[in-house]
Amino acid sequence: MTRKLAAGNWKMNGSHASLAEIAALAETFPSPGVDILVCPPATLLADAARRTAGSAIAVGGQDCATALSGAHTGDISAPMLAEGGATAVILGHSERRADHGETDALVAAKAAAAHDAGLTALICLGETLAEREAAQTLEVIAAQLHGSLPDSATPANTVIAYEPVWAIGTGLTPSCDQIGEVHALLRRLLADRLGDRAHELRLLYGGSVKPGNAGELFAIPEVDGALVGGASLKASDFSPIIAALEAAD
Ligand code: PEP
Repeated sequence: MTRKLAAGNWKMNGSHASLAEIAALAETFPSPGVDILVCPPATLLADAARRTAGSAIAVGGQDCATALSGAHTGDISAPMLAEGGATAVILGHSERRADHGETDALVAAKAAAAHDAGLTALICLGETLAEREAAQTLEVIAAQLHGSLPDSATPANTVIAYEPVWAIGTGLTPSCDQIGEVHALLRRLLADRLGDRAHELRLLYGGSVKPGNAGELFAIPEVDGALVGGASLKASDFSPIIAALEAAD
């Protein structure tokens, strides 16, 4: 059975002192029953990898370029992330889609570059509030999945995070039925695309996951873990979420 995944997205937060939070996670979970990934800002990645070497905590990036190297000021390539100790990279987060105009095609190209570098691509999808209110959620998610998943995607090198844009950092979450409906759709679409092994690809929910709602969210069918923003910054908040995932069936 595929292991569940608790992934933390620090976004543009944290300093060198914050590495103590990752060290605390490693101490709390010496041999966890789920996979744990922390994605700090790129400036902290190599130090985070050194601090977690030999532990059960993996570290990842928050974005990568499509190119391997060259005249791309400010960008970081997938091989550079891998050299820094990353095993995974978040791609297509709604903040990058909104702030940097990232399209599905660009996300797919980045995911292919991540795969080529041996990284797991953690691809984010999600509808806006206007799209949900217009009853377009399922078609939006289907189109995003279709456009953002590269041909190189397999259950071993790809994770999908369903993150409704309106639930990120707001304290709002969809109902369990709404999350279940989207995850069931994703599973069906992945089966069409990847065949028999599609059930092994991990589907995360993300958007205001907190210690107080984690247990309920992890009981939803087809939810294989979470992508956690704000509550991943402190080990004292992230640890009970990881424990709730370990406890989920
Ligand atoms: C995220 O940034 O991916 C996220 C889910 O943030 P938060 O948990 O803070 O809503």
